[in-house]
Amino acid sequence: MEQIEGRIARALTIAGSDSGGGAGIQADLKTFQELGVYGMSALTALTAQNTFGVQGVYPVAEEAVTAQIHSVGSDIGVDALKTGMLFSAEIITAVAEAIAFFGWTKVVVDPVMIAKGGASLLQAEAIRAMTEKLLPLTAVLTPNIPEAERLAGIPIRTSADKREAARRLAAFGAKHVIIKGGHEEGKEAIDLLFDGSSFSELSGKRVETARTHGTGCTYSAALTAGLAAGLSVEASARQAKAFIQAAIEDGITIGGGHGPTNHWA
Ligand code: PLP
Repeated sequence: MEQIEGRIARALTIAGSDSGGGAGIQADLKTFQELGVYGMSALTALTAQNTFGVQGVYPVAEEAVTAQIHSVGSDIGVDALKTGMLFSAEIITAVAEAIAFFGWTKVVVDPVMIAKGGASLLQAEAIRAMTEKLLPLTAVLTPNIPEAERLAGIPIRTSADKREAARRLAAFGAKHVIIKGGHEEGKEAIDLLFDGSSFSELSGKRVETARTHGTGCTYSAALTAGLAAGLSVEASARQAKAFIQAAIEDGITIGGGHGPTNHWA
């Protein structure tokens, strides 16, 4: 169990449910548990989902999102939190208000937009709410390449483009930006970490597999667990990188479609 200030470290995920158990809050809670932190959840949407893809999306009313966050924040307390699927501008606004209300600073934002199968998990008009309301409250933003392109508004073809995208995302207010290299090609998957002034690279072996469902959720949950336990952003990013690499290598064969990553450490 990870302790902070003499008690168990506590982490909250504000995200969507994946009925198939591979992504969303299910992946987040499994990851928190594996990394020894106490996990809590505020659901933003339900998805009817399996290894073939997303069959349905059912958003939760924004008052219900606010109520869940206030329930856990006012009683149990939160050392670090992450956001995943937020779906609408209304839910993003509710989440940003709740984070500001409690004054939470260890805030990881995984800007989930589209599931690997193509289902939209964020409405197009919600992008602006994300950049204007949530990014100013963000400690670590963890986009993949397509998400970074969309949020920064530029195509990423070269490493110079990637750095420019990271600068633009930091300009919205995110204190650290990690552009993940999983969608690129090559023997290594290199993540670019920008802290607002300097860049560093975290490199890992690329694993060729189709069992990558839930990769982004699991990575950002592992990062959040590190922050909750008192690690620095860089140390949390290294822990998360090692965790996700092992989870991809060890992906699970289940169902008739694309299996998930493995959350057992
Ligand atoms: N479903 C939910 C509820 C999610 O939060 C996410 C996260 O990104 C996904 C699906 C996407 O999963 P995939 O890794 O298959 O793109």
